This record gives sequence, structure tokens and C-alpha cells, in this order.
Amino acid sequence: MRYLLISDLHGNREALDSVLEDARNQYDRIVCCGDLVGYGPDPNPIVDWARSSLFAVIRGNHDRACCGIDDLEWFNPIAQEASRWTMSHLSPENLDWLRSLKRGPIVVDGFSLAHGSPLDEDEYIASLADAANVFDYLDRPLTFFGHTHLQGGFLWANGRREAIARPHRAEHETLLHIEADALYLVNPGSTGQPRDSDPRAAYALFDTETRNLLLRRVSYDHEAVRVKIESAGLPPALGQRLAFGR
Ligand code: ZN
Repeated sequence: MRYLLISDLHGNREALDSVLEDARNQYDRIVCCGDLVGYGPDPNPIVDWARSSLFAVIRGNHDRACCGIDDLEWFNPIAQEASRWTMSHLSPENLDWLRSLKRGPIVVDGFSLAHGSPLDEDEYIASLADAANVFDYLDRPLTFFGHTHLQGGFLWANGRREAIARPHRAEHETLLHIEADALYLVNPGSTGQPRDSDPRAAYALFDTETRNLLLRRVSYDHEAVRVKIESAGLPPALGQRLAFGR
């Protein structure tokens, strides 16, 4: 089975459309590590698409905040403003659907999906040290996660712990073979708001037969999204950051 893995879409329809076009005919199912909404100007189109297209999905912290499960006290002022905007624009059906999303991790076809850490959906795994604290507790050898908006990940094999690199700016993809006797924490990257200094939308492809994993980047029209964000009355900084991947 061939999986398209996405995370942290954050209401960015242009980025999602570019990913789907770039990955066309190269996957059988789509799975998502959470944060469908928040920040971006198109929460309803993203959730409408997710409801009909995702094989498996878990909730992210912004999904919780934007459907009223959490209060907003832990968010910075810009994230709070975006969450209030998103909650007031989501349709009642889409709010209900977001409220029904499961907490990660969940197991799908032999691998796990988590939003933050497999131990705590709100914890960031951003460094090898963060990953080292989690490896002992993994219930599957391969876990996909999101939340940091940093594509890449970490592996533990033959006593070595290493970071998994994302594609360079001049590359479209990097290939990693998933070995049977190692542990992997892999972040497909953020589709809708990358923060690893590469403005291109991020995603991953994983084939359960060949065990090949591709980390990919694809350009999209972030300027069009910036204009939409400003016309919607969302904080302009949320559009400006897309050009820098921060
Ligand atoms: Zn996020």
C-alpha cells in the first residue's frame, strides 16, 4: 500500500492543491498528523476535503482550539486571533467533525500517527535529544508526527541515533529506506506553514511493500495565500511568514 503523508495544513488550500498535484498517481491512501485548520484563510475547503479524502487523521492542537475543545490561553496573540476567526467561519458540520477527531497516536497499517510526541500530543520533537526521550516508548518501529513544522526526523539503529535530513533547497525529494530493525520518528513536514526556512509545501510518500520513504517539497503560490489572509482580516504576519518558510 502506498501512503501520502501530510501534516499541519493550517487552512492553506493552495499548498494542499500543489501537494496533491505533485503526488498524483503515486499513492493509494492519504493520512494526516493533524492541524488541518488555524492560521490559514480556507478552513472549510480543507475540512470538506479532509472529510471525504483522508483514510486516517488525528487531531492537532489547533484543531482542538478552533473547535472549542481547548481554551486559547496557551496561544500567542496572533494564534488566538486566528483561532477565533477560524471558529467563527467554520460550518457547524465541520466544527462537529473536528470535535470528533481522535487523539494520537493511532496505528494505521503497521505504523503510528502522532501530532506532537507519541507520549503527549502537545509536546514538540524538534531535536535528537527530544527524540531520544521518546524512542524507548514507541509502540511501532515507524511513527509519523507533526507539530514542529520541521520536515525530517530521527532514527535509532545499531545503537546510533541520527537525524534524518530534509531535501536541500535545490532538491525535490530525498529517499530513505525504512529498515526492519530500527526505530523511526518521521515528520513529513508542514504542508501549509513550513518553518524550516524552505517556503515550499512539505509532504512524504511511504510504500509499505518496498519500505521506501520519500520526503518531498513542492512550490505553491504563497503570494496568493498572503493576499487571501489579508483580505480575510487575519493577522498579516501569517501571510508574510509563508514567503520565508518561518
Ligand atoms: Zn501546526
